[in-house]
Amino acid sequence: MMDLRKNKDFVYEQVAQAASQAGRQVSDISIVAVTKYVDSHIAEQLVDLGVKHIGENRVDKFLDKYQALKGKDVTWHLIGSLQRRKVKDIINYVDYFHALDSVKLAAEIQKRADHTIKCFLQVNVSGEESKHGFAPEQVNEALEELASFDKLEIVGLMTMAPIDADEQELDEIFRQTNALRQELKERKIKNMPFDDLSMGMSRDFPIAISNGSTFVRIGTSFFKE
Ligand SMILES: *Cc1c(COP(=O)(O)O)cnc(C)c1O
Repeated sequence: MMDLRKNKDFVYEQVAQAASQAGRQVSDISIVAVTKYVDSHIAEQLVDLGVKHIGENRVDKFLDKYQALKGKDVTWHLIGSLQRRKVKDIINYVDYFHALDSVKLAAEIQKRADHTIKCFLQVNVSGEESKHGFAPEQVNEALEELASFDKLEIVGLMTMAPIDADEQELDEIFRQTNALRQELKERKIKNMPFDDLSMGMSRDFPIAISNGSTFVRIGTSFFKE
């Protein structure tokens, strides 16, 4: 049997421990519970246990959870890639969108959004073919185009490490992502604070936290048997 409370307490403890080891305040790190493995009922139990951030990677599942948990105090994160034709169905329920990976998608969000959407630019630091996201050298050009979109606030960068990366590679990828974020922050572009980093999943969040992550996206660890 899955003990949700125990799992939740364990995740929060591990995050606190990683923060402390990195000499960081745990309050600077938001834990996004990724509920794609479970139904709305379980997601609701997590919220009732004190989880504030819910993340889904697919539009249909996001909307299911959103409907079911209406009225609860939840910050909603869309963490997976979004097709342009689906933007209109979902964007106005999203607080944070973690996977902005093209200027065309940003233009569609600009057109459909009725409030400011906090967005992470997804960057493909590892250069892995199968991954979405801007290559680091494409970011500058993209920012010039994104600067005209006032419905998007670019809060930071998101990255995903290759599934087979070892600890050293993970450390390198997260370190480079934070360095790029810092560079972009120093440019002080309007609507682009670049204060945040969305990186770290169940298997690698301590390494992400040691490299400055402010949003960890954790699924599996919450729902272990
Ligand atoms: C599923 C998913 C996660 C969570 O991964 P776990 O390994 O289950 O913690 C994080 N980010 C994205 C984009 C995902 O799709």
